[in-house]
Amino acid sequence: MKNEKSQILQEQIERLAKLGADYVDARIYQFDSYETLRMFNGVLDESTALLEPGLGVRVLYKGAWGFAATSGKAEIEKCFDRALQNARAASEIVGLPIEMPKEDACSHTYKSPVERKYSDVSFSDKVAFMSDIDEKLKASHVKQRMMQLIFQEMNIYFLNSEGKETSRNLFNVFGKMGIFGIDSDGGSHRRTADLYSNGYGTRGYEMLANPELFANHAERIKKELSETLVAPKLEYGKRSLIMLPGQGFLQVHETIGHPLELDRILGYELSFAGGSFVKLDSFGKLRYGSDKLSVSAGCAYPNSPGTTGCDDEGTEQRTYLLIDKGILVNALSSRSSVCEANRKAGRTIFDASGASARSTSFYRPPIDRMTNVNVLPGNDGTLADIIANTENGIILDTPLSWSIGSNREHFHFGCEYGQIVKDGKITGTVKNTSYQGHTLDFYNSLSAVGNESTLELRQVENCGKGEPNQVLELGHGIPVMKFENVITGERK
Ligand SMILES: [Zn+2]
Repeated sequence: MKNEKSQILQEQIERLAKLGADYVDARIYQFDSYETLRMFNGVLDESTALLEPGLGVRVLYKGAWGFAATSGKAEIEKCFDRALQNARAASEIVGLPIEMPKEDACSHTYKSPVERKYSDVSFSDKVAFMSDIDEKLKASHVKQRMMQLIFQEMNIYFLNSEGKETSRNLFNVFGKMGIFGIDSDGGSHRRTADLYSNGYGTRGYEMLANPELFANHAERIKKELSETLVAPKLEYGKRSLIMLPGQGFLQVHETIGHPLELDRILGYELSFAGGSFVKLDSFGKLRYGSDKLSVSAGCAYPNSPGTTGCDDEGTEQRTYLLIDKGILVNALSSRSSVCEANRKAGRTIFDASGASARSTSFYRPPIDRMTNVNVLPGNDGTLADIIANTENGIILDTPLSWSIGSNREHFHFGCEYGQIVKDGKITGTVKNTSYQGHTLDFYNSLSAVGNESTLELRQVENCGKGEPNQVLELGHGIPVMKFENVITGERK
């Protein structure tokens, strides 16, 4: 990977080391493009393209971080100096000094699996693709139509003072279509479909163009919206909840992913995204869910937006368990948060970084983030099997609204689409669907997990965290899950 850029970074890193820096890392975003196309009722009403190349430098000096960034090629030396100055200033007031135990030099390259790059598809072809789907969404009961496509390509080079060197070429594509209708009471209803996969395909334009993953869902959501518009309201009551992956991904994201971010557990997000009910002494003993719940983090799915090869401090991604048969065993973590957690606990809780140090761009420092958080498929058969084994239940799909406790201890979700199950059969559609619960009680009521055939890799393009806010993309591999005695609907 040695080239002119890496030599310049190497010289600057060595210069700062001579000035007293304990650790330095630098990321060059040689290419960072973000293209958004949005269509409303057949009219392209947004087309934005952001290109953000630049350099971000992080310095550890006497236990304090300093960070600086620049997009000016003539500013490289100044940027390194500013990062060191910031770290020196912070070191005057630091409470608990940050430690980064030294790691060995290594070198990694990673490229997302791609057949056709987004930049190789013309603007007019992309708009024509959207217009074709917009035509499919038209129907007498559909009052409004929307669609959004996002294309991302990044080329990131990383070098640190330990000799870790990574080069990554990352591609992401996100697609969403939606329709809106009005019922006879004047209530507004929405049905949407997002681009998804089973996690093992590619991430180029061919993913979006695969009709099974996106375009074909236009007919399905039209049918489901028409059912919802004439459906009765969901009656309040406790019942079994069969959660489809289109809803399960956000349930898992909000009540397993976020509370297991180690910086949150350490209290660093309290003033912004919130804290976590999980404590350092919860690991290894907290029963988070029934023994049917096993959850992994990392790079199990090659075409997930959270699979990036390495994180933004050079740690190679691996797949590891967060929850093992219901017991909490690990967290989403970075090198410094692992070190701090172990020091605060007075014992080794975490033996390695979870490779979750991620930043949204060159001008933000990495923080502990979700990578991919996946529920492992179970042994309870197909969706049809799970329905057949349900006496009194509801099938729910797609988030409409959500409200989560700031420590993630409880939640309430509204959903776009619901179907009632009686004595093993679907008996009809209901509208105004919702459910609520306490996180640990809810996952301990998990009674069935579908097999591999029920698993979908759901994409998240807008996870927000940090101050200033950093928006990041990731994925969740989620099978069908069934929970018991769940409060559903709204009390009159
Ligand atoms: Zn999030």
